[in-house]
Amino acid sequence: MLNLKDFLPSLRIKDNKIFVESVDLETFKDETPIFVYSKEAINFYINKVKNAFKNYDTKVFYAVKANPNINLLKIFRDADFGFDTVSKGELFRVLNVEKNLKNTIFSGVGKRKDEIEYALKNNILAINVESFSELKTVKNIAEKLKKVADISIRVNPEVNPKTHPYISTALKKSKFGVSFKEALEMYMYARQEKFLNPLGIHFHIGSQIFEVEPFIEALEKTLNFVKVLKEKGITLSFIDIGGGWGVKYSPKDKVFPLEVLANKVIEKLKKFDYFLKLFVEPGRYLIANTCIMLTKILYIKKNEEKTFYICDAGMNDFPRPSLYKAYHHIEPLYQNKNEEEIVDIVGPICESGDFLALDRKIKKCREEELLVCFSAGAYTMSMASNYNSRLRAKEVLIDKDKIKVIRERENLEDLIRKEIF
Ligand SMILES: *Cc1c(COP(=O)(O)O)cnc(C)c1O
Repeated sequence: MLNLKDFLPSLRIKDNKIFVESVDLETFKDETPIFVYSKEAINFYINKVKNAFKNYDTKVFYAVKANPNINLLKIFRDADFGFDTVSKGELFRVLNVEKNLKNTIFSGVGKRKDEIEYALKNNILAINVESFSELKTVKNIAEKLKKVADISIRVNPEVNPKTHPYISTALKKSKFGVSFKEALEMYMYARQEKFLNPLGIHFHIGSQIFEVEPFIEALEKTLNFVKVLKEKGITLSFIDIGGGWGVKYSPKDKVFPLEVLANKVIEKLKKFDYFLKLFVEPGRYLIANTCIMLTKILYIKKNEEKTFYICDAGMNDFPRPSLYKAYHHIEPLYQNKNEEEIVDIVGPICESGDFLALDRKIKKCREEELLVCFSAGAYTMSMASNYNSRLRAKEVLIDKDKIKVIRERENLEDLIRKEIF
């Protein structure tokens, strides 16, 4: 059975219309496309994560790249979450809501020197190092700044998370992390360097994963390696198991069994030779199903084979369908009783890949009707672009009956602001 609350826990249906908390989405009918976030929904997912890990010393780091809006970061900060970042830009965003980077981890395969320096100067909790060359670069910068760099090493546990190939990150052929063999040499090197402090170990095996098994397999392999380190005299203080928890986008998707994962991880850690603090880095799980995008049907066009709903939002606003062939659930704002038809829901952009949904069964709509596109919180606004010189959409945050603008729609001047005439 379709339950729209799976895609937004704070959704209500009133007068046959979709509301977010107490706000009627029709309020935004002249402002489409628009992203509407719900504070109640964000708190719902924050609490789910907190509860799952409450029986173990766990620190949650929100993965900023899923959605970097500083108003959302503030909500996670207030929940006592830290941040997982992958660029100087993301570190800068965190510094807009926190005094320093003591609750922030810096990950990524290709960190520039200026990025590493910026992280160290602002007291980063740990740099997740992904190669031997990077480790030496971190050492040189730390030495120059006369500041010890706390590091963890991202290992590649070589497990198959059974997800989209673009978001599998721990296959043998993957560019991410290092083998356990390489990691051992890196820890041995770090231990004898005055300006490097090996504090933890990290893996992140991919994204949109529904099975618990690949996480446990990666954890077991990594814990075995942590034992080897201990024998060599290297004791770590944390293990970071990354993010990647699956999110329900389609009525057919399962719900990710977070409690099962948490309990299994906690059981393994409690049995381990010594105490390791647990770090987790969910992004998508915390934010995907807390937001909808509202778009308007501009035109309905039919040919012999197809019916097209041509909308005012395109792949520049909502890139996941074109990029990953991702399914997003879409409903008319008015929960009408019309019969269903099969349509392509497309954008206005000059690309055949510009679609929100293909061959989608939906209750028949009229021109000017509004569509609610669900699961729009993660990897959507953060991947949006100005392609076709379109203005990036407005974002609002709902808190009960209050509406707060958290990003204004771009204007025409924004488009050419950096161009030199
Ligand atoms: C992207 C990323 C995450 C978050 O992944 P989700 O699938 O959004 O949970 C966590 N850690 C690292 C290192 C990442 O690159």
